[in-house]
Amino acid sequence: MTPDPETTTFLIAGPVRIHPRVLRAMSFSSVNHRGDYFHGVVGEIRELLPVLFGARGHHAILTGSGSAGLEAMYSSLVPKDGRTLVLSNGNFGERTDQIVRRYASTVTTLTAPWGQHIPIEAARAELDRGDVRAVCVVHNETSVGLQNDLALLAPHVRRSGALFLVDGISAVAGIPLEIEAWGIDAVVAGSQKGLAAPAGLAMVHLSDRAVAALHPGTFYLDLAEHLSSIEKNDTPWTPAVPLFLALREALLLLKEETLAGRLARTHALADATRAAAAAIGLELYPDPAHASDTVTAIRNPAGLGDAQVRKALLDTFHVAVQGGQGALKGKIFRIGHMGIADWPDLLVAFAGLERILAKAGRLRTPGAALSAIAERMPLPP
Ligand code: PLP
Repeated sequence: MTPDPETTTFLIAGPVRIHPRVLRAMSFSSVNHRGDYFHGVVGEIRELLPVLFGARGHHAILTGSGSAGLEAMYSSLVPKDGRTLVLSNGNFGERTDQIVRRYASTVTTLTAPWGQHIPIEAARAELDRGDVRAVCVVHNETSVGLQNDLALLAPHVRRSGALFLVDGISAVAGIPLEIEAWGIDAVVAGSQKGLAAPAGLAMVHLSDRAVAALHPGTFYLDLAEHLSSIEKNDTPWTPAVPLFLALREALLLLKEETLAGRLARTHALADATRAAAAAIGLELYPDPAHASDTVTAIRNPAGLGDAQVRKALLDTFHVAVQGGQGALKGKIFRIGHMGIADWPDLLVAFAGLERILAKAGRLRTPGAALSAIAERMPLPP
């Protein structure tokens, strides 16, 4: 049977499934991006963005994927004179390092093996030397399904006076981020992850301190330019108008659920995913103490590769999950459970995984994963 993309169980690590209200919001006749209607849309988005970040502040909306937001943040904020500290423990930490090195004069990179938490003590030692001007870190390392505990890092960054710059692309609206309490100066969110809007927009949150520190980076992504336009409910260049319409609707959906509600639901789905995996003997890739609430990375069972697990899930059960990146290709698969992912998605995915294990003669307790999920589903009111 040719699978129906609209009913495929879509659990990749972003882009995520999109609510029909958000899809419909994009199907709109052409809009003059310099006209009153669009200015009104930008104005509404500005009012709604604090719901996404859980904090008031300065917000820029950039046409481009999450990486455009990262390039904007790092090019405008890492110091041209002074030291920048990068903390890296996965593919996107390595990406941070690559971007930062394009713009910063002196960079120190501290790494942890993929799947392990960033090295907090080593970071503290670097920060205590007193010359670090910016710290750059990925909140949720999507490539290995690990969330870095920024509450542990925050006091050291604050004491040092360095700017605290965060890639929150797969964390925002999925994992608690205390922007004010932790003293975070800049965070980048991607439209296609916890917010469940289409891919193609990056939202950047900036503190007063970050705005004061902005310097010209790239031309197209100049944050000062974007901030001065958005003050007038405008954008400096032609924006991706349909994506802005979708963004407004996705933000309204988030407001209806509340940020706290979405974080709690995402956590419950993550907890059920981990319990279901454990119930049928599947092993997490990252340190379980820091397993991500938005993406669960699971090792392929010994002897089974991408073709037997991920491809079989897609071809036989029409369940889309994501493979590993870089050195983890063929070794892990990743289940995204952020945005509007829901309980039926997990039930279908794990029913398929149980059948895959059954075929390989590895399923000792049939139904155990499904029970683990069902036991965690909410009781009706
Ligand atoms: N950083 C993180 C943590 C991500 O998860 C991703 C994408 O998955 C990116 C950066 C890159 O974002 P994009 O592909 O939207 O440019």
